[in-house]
Amino acid sequence: MTTASIDTARSVLSDVFGYDSFRGEQEAVVEHVIAGGDAVVLMPTGGGKSLCYQIPSIVREGTGVVVSPLIALMADQVAALENLGVRAAYLNSTLDLERVREVERQYLAGELDVLYMAPERLVLPRTQDFLARGRIALFAIDEAHCVSQWGHDFRSDYLGLHVLAERFPDTPRVALTATATRATHAELTERLSLQDARHFVASFDRSNIEYRIVPKDGPRAQLLEFITTEHPGDTGIVYCLSRRSVDQLAEALRAKGIDAVPYHAGLPQEVRAANQGRFLREDGVVVVATIAFGMGIDKPDVRFVAHVDLPRSVEGYYQETGRAGRDGLPSTAWMAYGLGDVVSQRRLIESGEGDEAFKRRSMSHLDAMLALCETVDCRRVQLLRYFDEESGPCGNCDTCKTPPQTWDATVDVQKLLSAIIRLDRERDQRFGSGQIVDVLRGKANDRSTSSRHEELSVWGVGAERTEAQWRAVIRQVLARGLLQSHGDYGVLVLGEGAGPVLRGEETVFLREDPVSKRGSRSRRAG
Ligand code: ADP
Ligand code: ZN
Repeated sequence: MTTASIDTARSVLSDVFGYDSFRGEQEAVVEHVIAGGDAVVLMPTGGGKSLCYQIPSIVREGTGVVVSPLIALMADQVAALENLGVRAAYLNSTLDLERVREVERQYLAGELDVLYMAPERLVLPRTQDFLARGRIALFAIDEAHCVSQWGHDFRSDYLGLHVLAERFPDTPRVALTATATRATHAELTERLSLQDARHFVASFDRSNIEYRIVPKDGPRAQLLEFITTEHPGDTGIVYCLSRRSVDQLAEALRAKGIDAVPYHAGLPQEVRAANQGRFLREDGVVVVATIAFGMGIDKPDVRFVAHVDLPRSVEGYYQETGRAGRDGLPSTAWMAYGLGDVVSQRRLIESGEGDEAFKRRSMSHLDAMLALCETVDCRRVQLLRYFDEESGPCGNCDTCKTPPQTWDATVDVQKLLSAIIRLDRERDQRFGSGQIVDVLRGKANDRSTSSRHEELSVWGVGAERTEAQWRAVIRQVLARGLLQSHGDYGVLVLGEGAGPVLRGEETVFLREDPVSKRGSRSRRAG
């Protein structure tokens, strides 16, 4: 790298983009790619990945070809670059033939700095032949984690991108993603043939985001209180699991005077585009969405991201919450979760597509997410550790601000596990949490009567605890893997690690649960 080209890069940074200095790893990446090297860039959402390929595209001779899965955003991305005077265009299925011809002409004439296209187009030999007739400055593979079959955004067309290495061995390639587990990193390096690339790994800490996870207790009211007391009039995103709950929740928020709009794949294209457009352009719009919403959305002043259903994985949670506070100002990642979430997520995995190995991976992703929910330590430490980054207590998460009280729940957990064993061994029956709690509390119902559960030694051994308290115990024990929940009915079976607890070799400390505490108070009062 000559000093001349780093100087050129710096003047592009200030003259074209209007920034005084590079951020974090940007300069190193830009320098390496301009010099013709391959790069893998792991940077959190909002970290500034775009400049890492845009500046080299401008500085190097030829056109930077950018692969992005987000057709819907290409027009916006190109318009933003054109506004800055960068010669940019895109090729995708939304263009008519005439426009395609014009873009192709511009490319061949060397009139483009940046050319966006979807992976399904780039993997076509026809496209590669065409590109070979012009001058390619570099390939940028955005959202590179989409190549991971285990990840949450797999796109099969990404798999074909490894041919770029063979077809264009002298053209630098830079792969970028905000998904940074060691496994994803290794997988994308291999699948994209980037073994010789230099790796740039930024810190994944988003220190301006306050993480908060509360036990579910009427999530709609909880969410409403959170928004109205902490973020009135702010821009935000609320994630739900199903389309139906998106529609209902958006409606409910609107009824309370919040400017909420729904977004999910089941809505007509025009409605989705209109709602996304309002969110991007106006202030204070709250999008209620499934995870179909958000990838590639660059709105700097999103003040909160709320989850009213449990995300499938820590990666998903991190990406979704990462859409808050890209401008660096204080923002909140708020989530409510309950036992029902655990059961429904497991059911989704079990009944979903994919082979056994895939389902096992999905289960372990879910387990890691649960561990984050139930941790008594700093959320950020736990979150960053998942991305192999060590850090200290942050002082800006709920567990740091109000350290959870813990209690020795060993005896209760033993009762719970024993009840499950007794029902299984003596009655050959497996139940979900509802029936188990009734057995523990000695509360007769039709099933317990017909199956003579009252005769079991575990009948009523947990009568001193409320139903809410037992549910909190079950949730936390599930999170630790001492129990597992299976099938449509969420039947509970013993997990690894149950043995030592049952034998009294290990103690179990659980966190005090605000929901169940309230439950016990009202019970005493009643
Ligand atoms: P990512 O793709 O990593 O999520 P972006 O490339 O969209 O992030 O950048 C996030 C925001 O940070 C954008 O608004 C961008 O303009 C801004 N940004 C990027 N690099 C710099 C910089 N060196 N100085 C100031 N702002 C920057
Ligand atoms: Zn913390």
